[in-house]
Amino acid sequence: MKQAAAEGLRKSDNQTVYQTPAHICRAEAPKQRRTAGTRPPLALPARPAACLEPVRKPAEHRILLRGRTVTYELTRKSVKNINLRVRRDGSVAVSAPRSVSLASVEAFLREKQDWLLRALLRTAARSPAMPERLADGTAIRLFGVQKTLCFVPGPRNSAAVSGNALMVSLSRPDDPALRQRVLTAWLRERCREAVLACCRAHYPRFAALGVAPPTVRFRSMKTRWGSCQPAKGVLTFNFALVHASPACIEYVVLHEFTHFLHPDHSAAFYACLSGYLPDWKQRREELDRNAP
Ligand SMILES: [Zn+2]
Repeated sequence: MKQAAAEGLRKSDNQTVYQTPAHICRAEAPKQRRTAGTRPPLALPARPAACLEPVRKPAEHRILLRGRTVTYELTRKSVKNINLRVRRDGSVAVSAPRSVSLASVEAFLREKQDWLLRALLRTAARSPAMPERLADGTAIRLFGVQKTLCFVPGPRNSAAVSGNALMVSLSRPDDPALRQRVLTAWLRERCREAVLACCRAHYPRFAALGVAPPTVRFRSMKTRWGSCQPAKGVLTFNFALVHASPACIEYVVLHEFTHFLHPDHSAAFYACLSGYLPDWKQRREELDRNAP
């Protein structure tokens, strides 16, 4: 069947649902070898509910792994080994003996980075991008990263990321309609910012090929991530992209821009797209897997 001109980027109907348990990785501390027969503890104590100050708050650290900032909680305790765990909500917990330096913990995380990043990707795919009920402690995906919603009283309605939390301060934090309105407006603004920045970054190569600066619009769409109307010079993007990773957003932006050169999904279109983004297939798979 021939594709209609300016065909948008369709969401896949098939969403993969992962049912695996929380990903747990244990390994020996660099300096203290595990003696035969002893096993490190399986898991850290349950995570305290969001917004509630835990009795003993684990220290929050950040580490850059393959270009992605990973936030993890580090707890010092009487354990023999460094234990690494990715919880079902996507948070990362590390426990380490008191004698092990932070540099050793970081070296351990770098050694385990492939496992850790894969586990985070699977966790993100398993949980919904946008929760149905906006409650304290509910998980929400922001640019491919799991965050925990936290509604707090504040002088003005606003939202901000703080570590693993998405803090939404409201004049009436218990008002469900206000929660929805403020959060939606904030997410839409973040979506606009990210997509427009990506459009600005990639436009010059299309300008060089004679593409006029497009009008960029945003909408909530059920079946498409984006669409292009070459004759009108209009690109339209789905607000739901705020849940997708930056790599996926870049794929959608380049896909739609490429339609200015090839309005259909012909071999020439894909040849052109592959030139800009050789790994576009993997990015599309990730996008479909994480479809809201
Ligand atoms: Zn397309």
